[in-house]
Amino acid sequence: MTVTRSRWLAVGLLLTPSAGWTQALSGRWDHERYRHDALRYDIGISLPDTGSQISATVVTRWKLSGAGPIVVDLDDAMTVRAASVNGAAVAWRRLGDQVELPLRDTRGEATTSLSYDGVPLEGNGLLLRGAGATRTAFGDNWPNRAHLWIASHDHPADKAAVAWSVEAPAGYSVVANGTLQHVDTLPGGRVRWRFDNPEPIPVYTFVVGMARLAETRLAPACADRCVPVSVWSYPEDSAFAVDGPFHRAGDIVAFFSQQIAPFPYRELRHVESSTMYGGMENSTAIFYDEKAWRERRTRESVVAHETMHQWFGDAVTEADWHHVWLSESFATWGANLWAQHAYGDSAMRAGMARERDEIIQSPATDQPILDSTITEKWRLLNTNTYQKGGWLLHSLRGLIGDSAFFHGLTAYFREYQHKNALSSDFARVMGRAAKQDLTWFFRQGLLQPGYPVLSVTTALAGGGLTVTLRQTQKAGWGLYRIPNLALLLDDRRVRVKLQPATVTRVRLPWHGPVPERVSVDPDAWWLLTVTGDQ
Ligand SMILES: [Zn+2]
Repeated sequence: MTVTRSRWLAVGLLLTPSAGWTQALSGRWDHERYRHDALRYDIGISLPDTGSQISATVVTRWKLSGAGPIVVDLDDAMTVRAASVNGAAVAWRRLGDQVELPLRDTRGEATTSLSYDGVPLEGNGLLLRGAGATRTAFGDNWPNRAHLWIASHDHPADKAAVAWSVEAPAGYSVVANGTLQHVDTLPGGRVRWRFDNPEPIPVYTFVVGMARLAETRLAPACADRCVPVSVWSYPEDSAFAVDGPFHRAGDIVAFFSQQIAPFPYRELRHVESSTMYGGMENSTAIFYDEKAWRERRTRESVVAHETMHQWFGDAVTEADWHHVWLSESFATWGANLWAQHAYGDSAMRAGMARERDEIIQSPATDQPILDSTITEKWRLLNTNTYQKGGWLLHSLRGLIGDSAFFHGLTAYFREYQHKNALSSDFARVMGRAAKQDLTWFFRQGLLQPGYPVLSVTTALAGGGLTVTLRQTQKAGWGLYRIPNLALLLDDRRVRVKLQPATVTRVRLPWHGPVPERVSVDPDAWWLLTVTGDQ
């Protein structure tokens, strides 16, 4: 998702310094586990013309683990009316915001059905607003607000296919995950919309939207195959969308399809909605903030960010909330990759430079990207998991080169498509692609706070030039290693190994006077700053 700038400040100020950076790359810190595995949800939901009362029946197919009852997340504002397991009514039990369904046999597979109704917590999960022509309903789940209206395993580690059967008043358009199967007219001025999304997706991207929306079909995105791409907006906002930020929405899908792997789903919709985020990457149906859209502030970079999420975040999903950089950093970096493709190297460099400044100014920089001390999920959305992880990917590209980098990115995607991954999985695949051990790189980049703050001096000695690099960052940030740091000494380019030590001295063969200008990392591959006395 994308977060507005004012929210960064609010998020940043909540952070407190602490040292949790010795944890491993495969740490699972959120302590949320389920016994059984949800394979598919068939969600029937009825949306009202007025008010906020909903009713739903969620039929779930489970792969059973051989132990204990099935426990699903469902907010206690929802009143359960009926429950069954394999077609037989069961005595369900309420456990706060969960419902327990007894199992007679805990092996193999089972199908459960849970019917409930209620008013979802206001402004959360399912947003029901307005009346008549301005009536809208939009899901908005990140991080774990799906269970406020959907009985589910509300955690990214338990991905599942989803089919929707949405009953809505006549006269509205409905969007949901996957492809539209049928639209049936029902008695009483109601319409039933059926969607099916057979690929497993994270529950936080399960959505429906209902509003008076105009659909604009864009040219399909054709790479290996053609993916339908459309824009759904309030009618008065469609011209702006199609001429402005979504003008190249199909090209973005085609570009990432070629650069990474085929688009992981069957189609893609961009939807004007009442999400609290700038954009929210719901699988196949990306929701954008209607306020920004109406004020003509929606940017192509947000479209690129959310589109990249369809690969990273949606199709490959972090197995634990604390590894959310596997989603957000990839999308943040992906927007810069698109900018490089569409507008040239300078556009990508400008984006990276802007994000470097945001990292440097953020209090989150005193924490590592993998920060096990965070217990409040909102606080995981910070400059570490967006911009700084994006810089990690950029530096990795510079370190191992485009060929190994993109080969590795594709290999990682293919291995974990429709599954979950941890940071250690990404590190392993990239190391394999680069044919080198990159553990040091990922430990440094993910478990150390801060970045190198360098000072550089040069001196002639014994017919050569001694270059002295000092790491002057805060002690708590630790020392950094950069094996291929480029220096521009006047017009001469050299590469040096920055050692993980306070002082690195390098002797270079040199003729002539001491260089007047020393530029560190002139192509800006590394997140670092230079201070000092040169
Ligand atoms: Zn995002």
